[in-house]
Amino acid sequence: MIRDTPVTGWPENARGRRFLQGPRRFWGVGKGALLTTASPSPASAGVSSAATMRALVKHHAGEGLQYVTDRPIPAPGPRDVRIRVTKAGICGTDRHIWQWDEWAAGRIPVGIITGHEFVGVVDAVGEAVTKIERGQRVSAEGHLCSGTDYLARTGQAHIASDTQIFGIDRDGCFADHIVVPEDNVWPVHPDVPDKFAATFDPLGNAVHTVMEAGVSAKTVLISGVGIIGLMAVTVAKAAGAARIYCTDIDPKRLSLARKLGACEAFNASEGDHWIKQIRRETPGQGVDVLLEMSGAPMAMDQGFRALRNGGRAALLGLPARTVDFDFNANIIFKGCTVLGINGRRMWQTWYQTEALLTSGKLELDDIVTHEFPLDQYEKAFETMISGEGIKVLLDVGQGG
Ligand SMILES: [Zn+2]
Repeated sequence: MIRDTPVTGWPENARGRRFLQGPRRFWGVGKGALLTTASPSPASAGVSSAATMRALVKHHAGEGLQYVTDRPIPAPGPRDVRIRVTKAGICGTDRHIWQWDEWAAGRIPVGIITGHEFVGVVDAVGEAVTKIERGQRVSAEGHLCSGTDYLARTGQAHIASDTQIFGIDRDGCFADHIVVPEDNVWPVHPDVPDKFAATFDPLGNAVHTVMEAGVSAKTVLISGVGIIGLMAVTVAKAAGAARIYCTDIDPKRLSLARKLGACEAFNASEGDHWIKQIRRETPGQGVDVLLEMSGAPMAMDQGFRALRNGGRAALLGLPARTVDFDFNANIIFKGCTVLGINGRRMWQTWYQTEALLTSGKLELDDIVTHEFPLDQYEKAFETMISGEGIKVLLDVGQGG
């Protein structure tokens, strides 16, 4: 979910700040006990089997991850399923954890298995599990909540107050196995290949943003075409956007945005002359919809200036720090609607994502660029961090 400098090309982005606001919790303590996973601890208390698995572990409070082969295979609790991971996606969040920046140091428990985007096959189910069976190919919503607070009980579980995220607050999916509550499991449609099923999490972010904003027959500006911004281009096109404009400062990603369906892709580092062009080309003297995917203050300002009066802005990009922003000109006098977007709606966004994927209308081949075996994780992270790759996958496979 994080898009940041090498990922988007934009400066001053810290998608990970999203998690700064969340409570810091550790496995198996405090409110984490609300969740049903029996053995999320690296010590794997209660696991009597000597069976072990491979995993990428945040082994120390510093840069890097450690590849281990002796992590105990977790046992599912009564309402959990255990999944044998097939493929996992490296997210901007994982990059922050790898680099151990300020956010990661304040949030990530040392010893945790990282990773939260994956597809796999269920290989064990708890005794109280009723809907999921062994052998099913599944992904999972990475935001876990008890389902008991006001928000979860009123259809807004994606912003529940007791949310934990696997690979961040508890053991994640860069491993042969992950244990997930049954309620978080998403059976994958047979027509969706593993390569794309592993990207449900970020693709869901893009779908959530596009669908909340509403783009059908509208002119749209996507500011910031990192992983999720690029996904938003193909999603907005599939959802019937009339014209899609994009901005970024990375020429490679701008040309990919054009290939995916943007009518124009402007390099924002070369000035804001393009705003006049957009105003000329759009009947409302500005785009109907702004999808802000960068978190860069300059992009936010430019994006709102290119938005027409009465337009609609959906903000997913996270600024690294407090932003100096002209509320008067950009929001109040403009009379626009501003939406904050977090995660994916459970499970509306997942159904929409599946519908779009199976429609054949999404073009993801150029976005999911690389795949490395789990033990080549260093190369995989390097490819992602350098910007050479866009969405980089780990092929976890059968293990061994
Ligand atoms: Zn992610």
